[in-house]
Amino acid sequence: MKNIEQVIFEGKRVIVRVDFNVPLDENFNITDDTRIRAAMPTINKVINDGGRLILMSHLGRPKKNPDEKYSLKHIINHLSKVVGKEVAFADDCMKASDKVAAMQNGDVLLLENLRFYAEEEGKVRGIEKGEEGYDEAKKALKESQKEFTKTLASYADYYINDAFGTAHRAHASTALIADYFDADHKMYGFLMGKEVEAVNKVMKDIKRPFTAIMGGSKVSTKIDIIENLLTKVDNLILCGGMTYTFKKALGGNIGKSICENDKLDLALSILDKAKEKGVNLVLAVDAVVADDFNNNANTMIVDPMDIPEAYEGMDIGPKTRVLFGDVIKNSKTILWNGPCGVFEFDNFSNGSRAIAEAIVEATKNGAFSLIGGGDSVACVNKFNMADQVSYVSTGGGALLEAIEGKELPGIAAIK
Ligand code: AMP
Repeated sequence: MKNIEQVIFEGKRVIVRVDFNVPLDENFNITDDTRIRAAMPTINKVINDGGRLILMSHLGRPKKNPDEKYSLKHIINHLSKVVGKEVAFADDCMKASDKVAAMQNGDVLLLENLRFYAEEEGKVRGIEKGEEGYDEAKKALKESQKEFTKTLASYADYYINDAFGTAHRAHASTALIADYFDADHKMYGFLMGKEVEAVNKVMKDIKRPFTAIMGGSKVSTKIDIIENLLTKVDNLILCGGMTYTFKKALGGNIGKSICENDKLDLALSILDKAKEKGVNLVLAVDAVVADDFNNNANTMIVDPMDIPEAYEGMDIGPKTRVLFGDVIKNSKTILWNGPCGVFEFDNFSNGSRAIAEAIVEATKNGAFSLIGGGDSVACVNKFNMADQVSYVSTGGGALLEAIEGKELPGIAAIK
């Protein structure tokens, strides 16, 4: 594979898979254009080189073709403003060859939502798995997916994947298309390159001690990640709602705290595995508990093994803030996924803030810190600390699958 910086795209047609799956309000105004801005380094590189830039993306989950609500035409004006030139639009991603042929150096063309076609995802529409006709439909779709992919590839001399957010999907535009380009004509975009580098720093080239902080509400949704991290980390801080499943499994009284009663054995086996592998697994030693699930509820600080009947755990307590903070500040590699309390309520955000502060301090002292996966990103943004950590991932599901140890199709296809 080539590095995007090694190529001069002048006069070349370059198709870039971006993630423009942006949130829109009821009038189709973009409410957050982070994803568009994140693709700008790659977009600028191609335009400034004098390349002919063809952008392709999905938007939402359309189920038919066309599907007005999910049309990428809604983002054209905003995209043109951000790019600084008029972006042309091909209202059918399968019928864009004339528009591509008419492009001049430096031009930008956006293709209509790839997911208007079932071929993009390769998922049969209208028939459920197991129903009559599904197998035939799947077979036919596999065939037409080849044509779909070939048509997209035919538009360009180079393929760039800059959509880390969909890198865990083996879709036509994120993975299959790469087969139509040789190693010198396919590459990661700048955003994807940064994401891949960040994942490598926590999965392969690890500087120790390595601490992972896993929070959020449930242990069941994080089990594959926790199992894989147990083979990599020195310290594993488990916090958030899942704390109480562990505390109950250890014989504690957890009051009204959220708990997955069918995961008590799993919690104990995680504790055993950590011991076996010599991982320092750290759980909260005190908790801020509340008599109601709201910001102004009455609170107390108690031992999470002994929570009064009418109370529930909402955040870590002051002793735990220090305990977690010390582990984090002594680390050289840090991965954070999931808040350690109900951070959406200000009165229960102190624990998550303390974690963010400790990560910022460790980063200042030379640690590499990666924040990723939904709510921890929202946390660092809420505390205005996103620019004080090493990297904030843009890919929720993709990042989590990478941390589970899976090879992402979008990354593998380029390699
Ligand atoms: P997840 O999507 O699994 O990462 O969970 C994130 C959510 O977990 C956030 O909305 C937090 O409010 C929630 N959460 C964190 N700690 C707790 C807790 N002690 N009780 C209930 N929810 C929590």
